[in-house]
Amino acid sequence: MMKTEELYYKDVHRTEFTAEVLSCTADKKNGTFLAVLDRTAFFPEQGGQKSDRGTLGEAEVLDAHVKGGIITHVLDRPLEEGSTVTGKVDWARRFDFMQQHTGEHMLSGRVHARFGYDNVGFHLSETETTLDFSGPIDAEALKELELEVNRAIWADIPVKTGFPEEEALKNLDYRSKLELTHDVRIVEIPGIDVCACCAPHCDTTAQVGIMKITDVMNYKGGVRLHIACGQRALSDYGRKQDAVDAVSVLLSAKREEIAEAVKKHLEKENRTEGALAETGRKLLEAYAAALPSPEESRHALLFVESADQNTMRRTMNGLAERYEGISGVFCGSDADGYRFVLGSRNIDCKALAAELRKAGFKCGGSDIFLQGSTGCTAEAIRQELLRR
Ligand SMILES: [Zn+2]
Repeated sequence: MMKTEELYYKDVHRTEFTAEVLSCTADKKNGTFLAVLDRTAFFPEQGGQKSDRGTLGEAEVLDAHVKGGIITHVLDRPLEEGSTVTGKVDWARRFDFMQQHTGEHMLSGRVHARFGYDNVGFHLSETETTLDFSGPIDAEALKELELEVNRAIWADIPVKTGFPEEEALKNLDYRSKLELTHDVRIVEIPGIDVCACCAPHCDTTAQVGIMKITDVMNYKGGVRLHIACGQRALSDYGRKQDAVDAVSVLLSAKREEIAEAVKKHLEKENRTEGALAETGRKLLEAYAAALPSPEESRHALLFVESADQNTMRRTMNGLAERYEGISGVFCGSDADGYRFVLGSRNIDCKALAAELRKAGFKCGGSDIFLQGSTGCTAEAIRQELLRR
């Protein structure tokens, strides 16, 4: 089969075209249909970028891929072989991808010029644009690069694309250098970047609108950057503005001061939690003091509705020093079950754990200490332990 004519290289703005259906087969496994045309304006998935979408006649174009120059359209319904079909490319999606991709080239070009790093990974989908660079970039440099790229966007520089002759290509210094000597598509943004690339790009840098680095992480000895360009950056700004506004209202703080307000709020919460834990500890101590004395009872079992693990453990340790048998603190309710800590100076807790597990307790620990949980009621727990 002959190679598909790629209309998006002639005119990236062309969203409507007619073409002949060369073949259409059912992909039974996926419930889709695979159509090959003599020409297409649908950019197929390649180079880290997802495909265009749209319609071919009545059929929805769900995906498109390319192999050996032949572009296959993945459809939700079949097309008649030999028929002429009208294709419509979803322009909003195409233009969004163009904005991200041209913005990516601009940033990668400036990173390459400044650090000599290569872009070793690129991913462009509906939801994210990520770039991986082969070396580290600190926060200050990222800010400068971001500003540099945005200044180049405002300068409205024409983006040039083309397939240079073999001789011109040989002498050209460009990113993503390929072994090929012909049919290499070069995307040049004068003064900013020259790179081999197969994807649709903006006509001028101004169409990118804005380029914002939204996230940075260390990745394989280099960095992975998330960026948002054009309308995507505007949407991102809107979402973040909404989040800032919501926090600002909740904390009655000015937008610029929400971080400080959240910090104060957390400090207050920490103090409250500390005071609450102290009150809980005193309460547990009071309950413990009200238990039958060691002279009246071998065991000490304390049931409370709420307590943190540290307080439970400390209280239990205090009891285990005074009582001969099992000392235990149980936290919870008959309806929700209990978490517990148990200890004893005289009873082998490991052996006790084995027996308790048979009685529906989940627990583990050492010779002198156990912790766990159980769905048993307080009454059942008492019956199980007090008979020992
Ligand atoms: Zn590219």
